[in-house]
Amino acid sequence: MPNVRPQELLVLFVILVFLLVALAFVIWLVVSLTSRSGRSKALQVPPSSAGQGQGQGQYCHQCGSSLKPDSRFCSDCGGPQ
Ligand SMILES: [Zn+2]
Repeated sequence: MPNVRPQELLVLFVILVFLLVALAFVIWLVVSLTSRSGRSKALQVPPSSAGQGQGQGQYCHQCGSSLKPDSRFCSDCGGPQ
């Protein structure tokens, strides 16, 4: 059995751990970059769906009945909107 000093084993162990940490860091960097690009695409909300949530202008100013967003006159009382 070769005579291996504990200090050499410790140095080899530290180098091995350092390499593993560096490898893990590189893998994490690649994964985070790829997931970030995919996440930004997923987070892009179409503006049409965000605008549909607002209810302004969808009710008649005179009778209060519900209106279509593009309607200029009330379908119930005929008042201009
Ligand atoms: Zn009306």
